[in-house]
Amino acid sequence: MYGLMMDRPLLISDVLRFSRQNHGGVELVSTMGDGSVHRTTYGQAYGRACQLGGALRGLGVKAGDRVATLAWNDYRHFEIYFAVSGIGAICHTLNPRLFPEQLIYIINHAADRWLCVDPMFVPLVAKLAPRLPTLEGVIVLTGGDLPEVGGLRTEGYEALLEGQPEELEWPEFDERTASSLCYTSGTTGNPKGVLYSHRSTVLHSFGICLPDAAGISMRDSVLPVVPMFHVNAWGMPYACAMVGAKIVFPGPKMADGEVLHRLIVSEGVTLALGVPTIWLALLQYLETSGKDLGPLERTIVGGAACPPSMIRTFKERYGVRTLHAWGMTEMSPIGTVNTPRPEYVNLSPAEKLEKASKQGHGVFGVEMKITGDDGKELPWDGEAFGDLKVRGPWICSDYYEVEGASTSHDDDGWFATGDVATIDADGYMQIVDRTKDVIKSGGEWISSIELENIAVGYPALAEAAVIGVRHSKWTERPLLVVVLKEGVAATREEILAYFGGKVADWWVPDDVTFLDELPHTATGKVQKMELRKTFAGYVLPDDR
Ligand code: AMP
Repeated sequence: MYGLMMDRPLLISDVLRFSRQNHGGVELVSTMGDGSVHRTTYGQAYGRACQLGGALRGLGVKAGDRVATLAWNDYRHFEIYFAVSGIGAICHTLNPRLFPEQLIYIINHAADRWLCVDPMFVPLVAKLAPRLPTLEGVIVLTGGDLPEVGGLRTEGYEALLEGQPEELEWPEFDERTASSLCYTSGTTGNPKGVLYSHRSTVLHSFGICLPDAAGISMRDSVLPVVPMFHVNAWGMPYACAMVGAKIVFPGPKMADGEVLHRLIVSEGVTLALGVPTIWLALLQYLETSGKDLGPLERTIVGGAACPPSMIRTFKERYGVRTLHAWGMTEMSPIGTVNTPRPEYVNLSPAEKLEKASKQGHGVFGVEMKITGDDGKELPWDGEAFGDLKVRGPWICSDYYEVEGASTSHDDDGWFATGDVATIDADGYMQIVDRTKDVIKSGGEWISSIELENIAVGYPALAEAAVIGVRHSKWTERPLLVVVLKEGVAATREEILAYFGGKVADWWVPDDVTFLDELPHTATGKVQKMELRKTFAGYVLPDDR
């Protein structure tokens, strides 16, 4: 027997409509590329999203079409999120830090029809244009003159909106309809697309707003220092709109401690979110300037392990609570958040810090388990560690348009995260290692396999392996471990120079170390785990 409850679909357009009606005057503040500050409200953003929805339809964008963005965090990007998904198309966010070849691969794989681009990325798109056959045109995010973009049809964002009605009859469709797309390089091989749905996005917004998750409410002013091209800025635009929290968009200057501090103080920011590297920049600025964090109540630190010292500094020096969190592009992203159980109040400061340093407890909507090599579930005792697997309505069931069955999902639909973890009796998960062969530097992925493939093309090298080693600013940086061919010499500098022009500059390994041989498994594969153990304490040249 079915319940007698309305079967209303969970749609992204309804989230913005709700915020217009209930929180219409709440501000969205943006730092623009030229440093100016722009202010709008949920009410105005709703009207402009309606205008953009109408304009996109006028350009021929239909349900299911991919509309890409190459943009920083600001109000226009926010409007695009809602307008594109609202008309049933798919908002595909692109990471401008990727190497051109990767962007070309991703845009073509997604078969994007239109690309919304910040003026500062126009030269990049112009260069790529001849190799983007699916693109019908670009929408430049400006109200000013239109640049030439590699011969592509070019429209201006503000001009497109002009004359369009500020009301739109948003279409109603199945809540499982795809809403947005984000590629991740946190896997082996080519980047893979994670295709979110309206349902997953709305449910994730409910989940992340729970008091023991991010606990976002209309009393918050939220600074997402996570790019809107990375997992929808951890879902903040949707979650904040759902509860009517003010959003402060940092624009392109995300790693600038002074800018972040100014925004926190002037905009009454109560919650700021980002990867550890960002907070290092802020803490350094505070240290040298002697300033404090005024209104800031809490930070959510995730994307990479948050050092305990950061949690302590935020708390002891600035009175700010740090919530360590873990998630993935494949998980929308939230998986766990670390808020303390009430009884932890009686723990000693050292014990509290130890607990707070874990990646956190589950959020309803995310089931977790750890399994051993035999696939059997391991106990939640804080000691046993194994492959971390997850399941839930905002976790991807497959990658977008990848041939063959997913190798990341088992028969029961659990997704293998590629992280290795313990879970304690209270349900707090701690990451202790990673099985996936990638490196995360400042919150962005570097493929070790791609670097190894390049390295072995260097004539003097017999074998090469790339592993991530700890770095105080970037969390992890690539170290190239090589074996030279017999009787051949090569220096560190020569080998590193070989990467020039083949990958983005920030992918080039920080150092090269020479071994007589690499550790191998019985089947001849390099034992990365062994190498990671050997170089666990390695100090990179610019970190000494
Ligand atoms: P991404 O899909 O780029 O968000 O990356 C997800 C991956 O980043 C996870 O599978 C982890 O390997 C890593 N990660 C995310 N958050 C944390 C964290 N708090 N501590 C350690 N690693 C993390």
